[in-house]
Amino acid sequence: MIDFKNLAKKYNTPLYIYDFDGIEKNYTQLKEAFKARKSLICYAVKANSNLSVLKHLANLGSGADCVSIGEVKRAMKAGIPKYKIIFSGVGKRDEEIEEAILRDILMINIESEAEYHRIELIAAKLDKVARISIRVNPNIDAHTHPYISTGLNENKFGIDISKAKKLYILAKDSKYLEPVGIHFHIGSQLTDLKPIAEASEIVASMLKSLKVLGVDIRFFDVGGGIGIKYQDEKTIKLYDYAQSIFGALKGLDVSVICEPGRYIIGNNGYFLTTVLYEKSNNFKRFIVVDAGMNDLIRPALYKTYHKIEAVCSNNVNVSKCDVVGPVCESSDFFAKNIDLPILSHGDLLLIKSAGAYGFTMSSNYNSRGRACEVAIKDDMDMMIRKRESFEDMIRLEKEFL
Ligand SMILES: *Cc1c(COP(=O)(O)O)cnc(C)c1O
Repeated sequence: MIDFKNLAKKYNTPLYIYDFDGIEKNYTQLKEAFKARKSLICYAVKANSNLSVLKHLANLGSGADCVSIGEVKRAMKAGIPKYKIIFSGVGKRDEEIEEAILRDILMINIESEAEYHRIELIAAKLDKVARISIRVNPNIDAHTHPYISTGLNENKFGIDISKAKKLYILAKDSKYLEPVGIHFHIGSQLTDLKPIAEASEIVASMLKSLKVLGVDIRFFDVGGGIGIKYQDEKTIKLYDYAQSIFGALKGLDVSVICEPGRYIIGNNGYFLTTVLYEKSNNFKRFIVVDAGMNDLIRPALYKTYHKIEAVCSNNVNVSKCDVVGPVCESSDFFAKNIDLPILSHGDLLLIKSAGAYGFTMSSNYNSRGRACEVAIKDDMDMMIRKRESFEDMIRLEKEFL
């Protein structure tokens, strides 16, 4: 059991807390589910990019899926080997592509025809061979929140199948590009296997036709997106998940790459905040806390649910309330119409499932310093990022008077 009260006393709030033992458990279970084939888990760094989190995963054998050169650098700094690093994203700058080629990572994931030519040009200039994969858009509805659905023709991601095929055939004869992988990622917080199985089938059959044409792909990258339980969602069984992918791969000698972010760390992260005030009007009861949407933006951005519990409360006199922050926006809330006991100044609230897309999406809006991050491992706690001070916040600014 994590002693949240003690952690709040020691590190103050708002505070992110990550359970490193839980991260290990999740990583190991997924790896186990894939054991019938060669597999590589490339953790999606954007979910939580703290260097200690990455180092922990590096020690477990994880690779990294990165969406900026900054994430590539973080992954390498944390000790993830270059041959386990993938660089994805629809908008890579020339400098980023160049650096990724020079760092000799496993592959750069191409998201458009224009980018294909850009990467080839840059590789030629450097006189290097860039290993590539193409992100194909299988036009599959992942049945998730529209903001995190990525596999439909209307989304900005990936290249449609027929065009991708042409690019692979081009790449086969390119002096500077070596096609090694194929990639898709249909969305995040997936709770249904069918779209994954369908996308796998579509992409695997494309692979087979490429093989006939002499394009030999080694890595079948199914992206991330394994959903987690925030409330009462039905989640995917890992074994079934792996089988639904393997089913499409019969007769193909490929390694499977999976890029989980949320699944690894989402439910292993807690966000702790202190109650400042209770206030009520004729309509509503509000609990005002010391954390805001700048710390955890998911409820404001996607209207998502995070379970909130009062720490050290016997839960008497429970009634409906909204939990809100100090930021000057009406979207600055963590929950609406939830049951909480009567609270007073200094009481603690625990916001659950906050490990993924929590800290990494935080900002300094309202000139609020970013929260402190703490890791728990073997019942010990370690600070893995200091609370941001006022000086930290203004460090890069210049006064021009
Ligand atoms: C965001 C993203 C992931 C991770 O998604 P999760 O839902 O956190 O598992 C994996 N791959 C790509 C390409 C992504 O953009």
